[in-house]
Amino acid sequence: MQSWVIGNWKKNPATLTEVNELTSAIKSKFLQKQSSQDFDSTCYPQLMVAPSTIHLVMASQSLEDTNILVGCQDISAKSATIGAYTGDSSAQQMLNAGGSWTLVGHSERRSYHRETEDTLITKMRFAFEQGLGVVFCIGETIEAYDLGKTIPVLEEQLQILKSLPNLNEFFAKIIIAYEPVWSIGTGKVPSIEEVEKVHQAIKQYVTGINASLADAPILYGGSVNADNADQFAASKWVDGALVGGASLDADKFLSIADSFYQGKQQLNG
Ligand code: PEP
Repeated sequence: MQSWVIGNWKKNPATLTEVNELTSAIKSKFLQKQSSQDFDSTCYPQLMVAPSTIHLVMASQSLEDTNILVGCQDISAKSATIGAYTGDSSAQQMLNAGGSWTLVGHSERRSYHRETEDTLITKMRFAFEQGLGVVFCIGETIEAYDLGKTIPVLEEQLQILKSLPNLNEFFAKIIIAYEPVWSIGTGKVPSIEEVEKVHQAIKQYVTGINASLADAPILYGGSVNADNADQFAASKWVDGALVGGASLDADKFLSIADSFYQGKQQLNG
């Protein structure tokens, strides 16, 4: 299975100049890697960056002649296209601006914007209708983790996939990102054994919803950095990483990609 390394830039960086510097650095380092004689494109992860909406056009223009994808962090739940929704940007507009995927269900949006299950379902529906892929983020709080309730909490979050019409048509456009809330931005990570157990449970659960979801990549996210990526990359249960803080540094981001590249080469024997 193709692995993925996705950078969630959140509300960073501050200026267009910095966006340009970051995309240029990612691009030149990636192209350098790609041009090396022993580059094996079948093992190299698919890269994607998700800048702020205001930076989407610049990032996608800067990366358009590469196969690095650009995604967005959010889409409107009010309409898939246009309309009188002040402050919103729709799936249609994101696609037109160069986005090809959107995050849905990130814990920061669930908590700071109180996004409900209905909102998440609507966003996924709008994304698929317009041709965007969905990186569906799920994760348990520290309280649920401490109570040993991680898997039931994740199943509860995943069950909304049952409400999506025509899921069969979209299975190739869903990535699941397991991101423990207590791990995001904290430097704390679960053990690889815990992550593997959770990813196996996710796969089993989503396959029960729809057999086509057996092939949905399952990424780990939460304080992944250049120093700890190897352990995730070496696991056959981890199909990539959703990276926040470390994705704002081109060297660190590409180093995480390298870990998944090497991990995949080793897994492929
Ligand atoms: C995230 O917000 O999706 C994330 C994984 O953040 P960080 O890597 O900074 O923990």
